[in-house]
Amino acid sequence: NKYIELKNVNKVYKMGQIDIKAIDNISFSIGKGEFVIVVGPSGAGKSTVLNILGGMDYLSSGEIIVEGNVISQYSSKKLTQYRRLDIGFVFQFYNLIPNLTAKENVELALQICKNPLDVDEVLDKVGLRDRKNNFPAGLSGGEQQRVAIARALAKNPKLLLCDEPTGALDYETGKSILKLLYDTCKRMGMTVVVITHNLAITPMADKIIKIKNGSVDDILINSNPTPIE
Ligand code: ADP
Ligand code: ADP
Repeated sequence: NKYIELKNVNKVYKMGQIDIKAIDNISFSIGKGEFVIVVGPSGAGKSTVLNILGGMDYLSSGEIIVEGNVISQYSSKKLTQYRRLDIGFVFQFYNLIPNLTAKENVELALQICKNPLDVDEVLDKVGLRDRKNNFPAGLSGGEQQRVAIARALAKNPKLLLCDEPTGALDYETGKSILKLLYDTCKRMGMTVVVITHNLAITPMADKIIKIKNGSVDDILINSNPTPIE
């Protein structure tokens, strides 16, 4: 079950005369429907890995294969299409548009989308049935992140990428967001990759990828993942 495969991936950022090696020879695979978490210190290369997975950035060398397609060789046009159709993103800061309601924020994301899900149903699913006409400023941090998750899910992506989705939330609220992401993964059969420092999540993960200094430090496979309370 190799849905995604990274093979000897390297990423170097050029900053004037200086080369910054963000990713150093990373290889791993992700199975369809897996709930994967990526952990590691700040600056380790986690966001770079996620951006590359989502077609937001090019690698310097190596290969990324998704469902048999070598996406690392895609043209920028094909990569944009991959990003729009296959990928949902959730960020630390929810990036909602302040003068649109929760529902309108989700709807806006669907204009360039081929087979969107029903917006009301998705908002129900993330627990915002009664809050969908609120503006972002009238929602708590956790609720705003739920809107951002609904916005990503409504596109019906194959792969949901989350970069520190709990980073701006307190521990308990963060835990409920992680649980929502887990439930989404398992109920919708969606592959989900989450960067997080919130360790409440580790018992739920199918796979934990530890990144350190741009390299894979360790990969833990959890043979008996259990949802947290
Ligand atoms: P985190 O460590 O919480 O994952 P980021 O991934 O946003 O935070 O950033 C990690 C480091 O990478 C930071 O030190 C930041 O300054 C640097 N960085 C991120 N994006 C850029 C960029 N576009 N240009 C230069 N440095 C960047
Ligand atoms: P993490 O997400 O684990 O905090 P990042 O992937 O953001 O790590 O960053 C890895 C390294 O690459 C860091 O040294 C960071 O400063 C650097 N970096 C990240 N993005 C950029 C960028 N756009 N331009 C230059 N350097 C970057």
